[in-house]
Parts: sequence; C-alpha cells; structure tokens
Amino acid sequence: MIDFSTLDLSPALQANVNKLGFEKPTPVQAESIPPALEGRDVVATAQTGTGKTLAFALPLLQRLTSQTGLKAVIKAVVLSPTRELAIQINETFAKLIPGTGIRTAVVVGGMNEDRQLAKIRQGAHIVIATPGRLCDFLQRRLVKLGGVEVIVLDEADRMLDMGFLPSLSAILKELPAVRQTLLFSATIEQSVAHLIKDYVTDPVRVSIGVSTKPAEQVNLHLYEVEQDRKHELLTRLLHANTGAFLVFTRTKRGADRLAKNLETSGIETARIHGDRTQGQRNQALQGFKNGTHRVLVATDVAARGIHVDNIAHVVNFDLPEVPEDFIHRVGRTGRAGAKGTASTFMKRAERDVIRRIERTLATRLIKMDAPPPVPADFKPAPKVITITAAAPPQQRPAAKNTWRRRRFASR
Ligand code: AMP
Repeated sequence: MIDFSTLDLSPALQANVNKLGFEKPTPVQAESIPPALEGRDVVATAQTGTGKTLAFALPLLQRLTSQTGLKAVIKAVVLSPTRELAIQINETFAKLIPGTGIRTAVVVGGMNEDRQLAKIRQGAHIVIATPGRLCDFLQRRLVKLGGVEVIVLDEADRMLDMGFLPSLSAILKELPAVRQTLLFSATIEQSVAHLIKDYVTDPVRVSIGVSTKPAEQVNLHLYEVEQDRKHELLTRLLHANTGAFLVFTRTKRGADRLAKNLETSGIETARIHGDRTQGQRNQALQGFKNGTHRVLVATDVAARGIHVDNIAHVVNFDLPEVPEDFIHRVGRTGRAGAKGTASTFMKRAERDVIRRIERTLATRLIKMDAPPPVPADFKPAPKVITITAAAPPQQRPAAKNTWRRRRFASR
C-alpha cells in the first residue's frame, strides 16, 4: 500500500480521506489496513501517535459502507481506556463519515447517559465507548450487541492496566462469535497476550518500531533538581522555549498546586486529573488544544490516551511510578514524525529510578543544565486576546505565535 488512493474504498470514504490531506499512510496504517479490509483479525503493536485511529477506522467504515441496506443496529464497537480518547476517536470518525450514511455514538462515564442512549436509539452503527459505561448499559439491558461485526480494542494494555478486564470480558462475551477483532496496544505483555489468546482468531501481527522505546525524534533531557526548585526550573524552561507544554505530576493535589502557581506567574494553565468532572476535563483539553492554555498539567491516569497534536514539550515534573508510564508520557510529544522534547526532573534521591527507566528504554537521558533565570526586568508583551472559537485546529501555528507573545504576560 503506497498511498490511500490504491485502497478499495467507497467514493465517499475516499473523498473524506483526501480531505484529511495525508500524503502517505503511516507504517501501522500501511500494514494493518490491507489485511483488515480483507476481514482478517489484526493485532498491532505500535507506539502512541503513529496513526492507529485511521488504521482501524478505515477498514471498519469500508466494511459498513459496502453493505447494502445497512440496518440501524450497532455493527461495530470501539473500546478505549479513557473518555478523552473515546471522544477524540469519535472526532476522527466524524471527519470520515460524511456521505456514508453511517452514524456513531459515544458511550463514556461522567457524562449525561440519556443523550448517549438517545444517539444509540437514533440508529448508531458504531459505538465508541469506555468499557465501564458500556458494560453498565449492557447489564441494564439498554444496548444490544448481537449485531456487532467488528470490535476494536484500542490501547488494550492501558485498558487492562486500568482494571477494565472484568468489563472487557463481559462485553466480549456479548458479541457474536463470528466477528472481526482489531487490537492495538503499545506493548503485548502477559495480560494482553491472554486477551489475544482468548478473543482473537488467527490474527495478522503488525509490529511497528520497538514499543519500549520513545520515538527517535524526541530529545530526552534530564535535570537534577530538588522539589522546592522544580517550579522555578519549569518557569525557566517555559521562558527559554516556545510551544505547548504537557506537565505530569504524581498526585492530583500536586497538579492543582502547580497549576495554581503557574497561573500566578501569568502562564495560562489547564489541569486534568481524576477529581475533576468530565465537563472540566473536556474544557481543559479543549483550551489546551486550541491554544488558550499553553500548559496542561495532568496526572497519569487522567492523561492516558490524550491525543493532542503539536505538543512541543513534555515535562516529568514528578517521576512516573513505572517505566511504562514514562514511555507513555513521552509519547505525547514527537507525534506523527514531529520533533519534541521530554524533560525529566529528578531529585538526587531518585537516581536509581532513572537508571531503571534508562535500562527499560535501552537509552540514556541527556543531563542538562538549567536554562538561565527569567530576567528580573523581563517586560512581557501586552496580553494578546485570541478568538479561539473561530480558529479551526489546523491554524495552530497562529496560536503558537500568540503563546510566544503572551509569555509571562502578567509578571
Ligand atoms: P493517532 O495515533 O491515530 O492518534 O494519530 C496521531 C496523529 O497522526 C493524528 O494527529 C493524525 O491526524 C495524524 N495522522 C494519522 N494518519 C496520518 C498520515 N497518514 N499522515 C500524516 N498524519 C497522520
């Protein structure tokens, strides 16, 4: 598969793919789409940000559009570990379905269930869900999955990490035995291997890159810094660099505290963690995506599956609990071939943890000196107000420019 035009897609789908403006399929797309179009099960290991969504969305949509007299029943289920990712997957589907007659519904926790059920009853063919809420709907007999032909398990390893195995098994048991399964995972650990053995039939294995390694175009920087100097170091990095920053803290309270401190320093900051309502989380993510907030502070669980383009910088303000989380965090930058930097803050006492991470990743982090202090006489440019509602996501460079000009706006 050299380019999308060689694929056997319906004219509407082909036109929608053209509109996305992608020149060439990514490796995971090139290897997964052809067998999936033939109806084969696919198990793919690919790092985050490699174009997995299109790799499963295209074959799934082609299968449904090729059916004459498509019934208004649920034909496909896409399961994702987080609400945010489910919403983002739905956004990709929304760009691909115009003119195909296919409808989607999102089923996730923390949001109004009546609206989600209404979408299903209006005849959704594809349900994009987190396992918990879909399982709840199944148990209450609010949805029927007997007509499902395709199931997609996105970020399967994350779903298992998050304790979704019982819900996942309950959902998979409700599906017809004859179906197509497309499973994507950053790693195929023991637990995922079990899932594959029990629920996937004669799959085509697709393995892109080494899944325990961050993308090569990401600079991995290391700063030795004690807790009380971390905020200062972060403000220096924000001053010395441009672009959007995603900052990881270990605890929800730590995220709140840091976001507040950054706001006090005049840096527009959004935050996402488990104690925030879904509405607040969506708003934070939206503000970060459209450039209203230059910084997003997040905890690991809440950040799983956040897919935002053009994150220039990931900061491990606190070290992750496990090396796998490090890979996952760092994977938020350097997406789709872009360059990125991941800066890790390490306390003296944490040197061993860093060594463990380096061993797992089979790479070395580059020790860096702190950038110079923000000059005391730094006169920020007047605050620029951007009317972000009118700016579609592809106009991000303009938003980036305003970040530069708004830096330290109220210091
Ligand atoms: P995903 O891994 O599906 O979240 O995709 C990561 C990013 O890559 C998204 O912003 C996609 O819009 C983008 N993308 C997906 N497929 C392609 C492609 N063939 N060429 C360029 N960018 C792509």
